[in-house]
Amino acid sequence: MSTRALVTEAPQTLGQPEWSTLAKKLDIETGLFIDGEYVEALQGKRFDSINPATGEALASLAFGDESDIDRAVASAKRAWHAGHWRYMAPRARMTVLTRLAELIDQHKAELALLETLDMGKPITDALTIDLPEVVSTFRYYAECIDKLEGAVTNTARGALHLIQREPLGIVGAISPWNYPLLMASWKVAPALAAGNCVVLKPAQQAPLSCLRLAQLFIEAGGPPGVFNVVNGDGPVTGRALALHMDVAKVSFTGSTAVGKLIMGYAGQSNLKRVALETGGKSPQIFMADLEDLDAAVERAYGGIFDNAGQVCNAGSRLLVHRDIHDAFVEKFVARSRQVYRPGDPLNPATTLGPVVTRAHQQGVLAKIEQGCREGAQLAMGGGEPGGLEQGAYVSPTLFTCVEQGMSIAREEIFGPVAAVQRFDDEAQAIAMANDSIYGLAASVWTRDLKTAHRMVQALEAGVVWVNCFGDGDMTQPFGGYKQSGNTRDKSFECLLGYTQSKSAWFDLA
Ligand code: NAD
Ligand code: MN
Repeated sequence: MSTRALVTEAPQTLGQPEWSTLAKKLDIETGLFIDGEYVEALQGKRFDSINPATGEALASLAFGDESDIDRAVASAKRAWHAGHWRYMAPRARMTVLTRLAELIDQHKAELALLETLDMGKPITDALTIDLPEVVSTFRYYAECIDKLEGAVTNTARGALHLIQREPLGIVGAISPWNYPLLMASWKVAPALAAGNCVVLKPAQQAPLSCLRLAQLFIEAGGPPGVFNVVNGDGPVTGRALALHMDVAKVSFTGSTAVGKLIMGYAGQSNLKRVALETGGKSPQIFMADLEDLDAAVERAYGGIFDNAGQVCNAGSRLLVHRDIHDAFVEKFVARSRQVYRPGDPLNPATTLGPVVTRAHQQGVLAKIEQGCREGAQLAMGGGEPGGLEQGAYVSPTLFTCVEQGMSIAREEIFGPVAAVQRFDDEAQAIAMANDSIYGLAASVWTRDLKTAHRMVQALEAGVVWVNCFGDGDMTQPFGGYKQSGNTRDKSFECLLGYTQSKSAWFDLA
């Protein structure tokens, strides 16, 4: 039974033995995807894709350098000038992207397995969170295509003024590894929907699912050259894409430090547009009057421990009113110890996988040590879970007695590490929440509607959740204030960012 033969069966019924068998039979694509087919890198360079649960290499992949980026951009440029995609009738383009959504859904077992093997997330999460959201992303932007409208403005007699929305040309997308296919889709889907051609550079830690996506686009009826994937690292491959003179926009999700470099590359090259979704240190604020402490605690640990904390909007700062602080911490520790079961990510019962690489694990552990040195107290976790030394695991970790100046309260850790801080009143909670270079997301728990509205207004964050965490759908603009970024993913607003306006003024006099 090949993996692709399994695509239509019910993957949620598979157990660990079946997933492990499938993993061994998986057909992994290893080339670059340029002009509608897999090709070797021009210089023949390769790199290994590693499974962080075992440390073993999954595949040796083609590593694209500047010459391969040139080749992919040239292919996208030919497709752009041929015009099959940008001039395709809106409903025909909708049909292709809708078919792509269906194909992703049909291949969800294979794609989820690739995500799990490549970046370590539990298979149940890949199957029930990542893949359905990828499908929704392509469906939503497919549906948007014929909803894009221009305008006719109010002119004096004798003139007609049309404002049309046109695609930009070639979009370079650079994506991270935490939700490999989903983060790439948040860029690729709106860029394609708007009529652009795309060159995607996935994260080198987890590139496999994106390689398959490109092939599914062709299978869905997409023209060759419209969507290309070039694997490689940041300093060579990503940089070449962001510096390319024929790329009209670079859309980046990743760290704030690299986001700053990307802006520089745009300035050094052709003033391409730069859309950045970067890091975060999101506060979750728990007021003394919140309605249901159990519900709040459940979302609190989910907000920092799910996906092993490798979430840009991870709620890593828990700001808790002093009246409920001790009860909150006690419940948080007791409940999350039950919920997070570290183990083989191919076991559907596993709720905590490894972090993405051994190097990242070491970085997260070093930040935990720094928190201890600075005087914070470990309420749980703080190291590696026992018996899983072959993988890059980190135990869910909670710090108490955290001061605002400590590194664990200020720096993004991108692992399962939370810091609790107490506050006395609303003003102090807001001041602490906003005392950050980041501003991606925040949450507020209160039963008072007025408090909630005041706090939503005062919080410097692109997304604020009230009495929940992480909720939303495709209509939600997702992105940050301050150094968390300068754009919004998801939403119709994001689609507009892949277009530019053209003003056409007619003299009819
Ligand atoms: P990263 O910045 O190291 O890498 C992101 C991507 O940029 C990768 O594809 C990488 O190869 C590429 N890159 C690295 N150096 C480059 C360079 N000099 N030029 C061009 N490209 C380069 O980030 P990561 O470790 O992959 O992802 C984690 C980060 O992403 C975290 O900071 C997280 O908060 C952020 N993130 C943000 C969002 C959001 O929506 N705001 C979503 C997911 C992740
Ligand atoms: Mn990997």
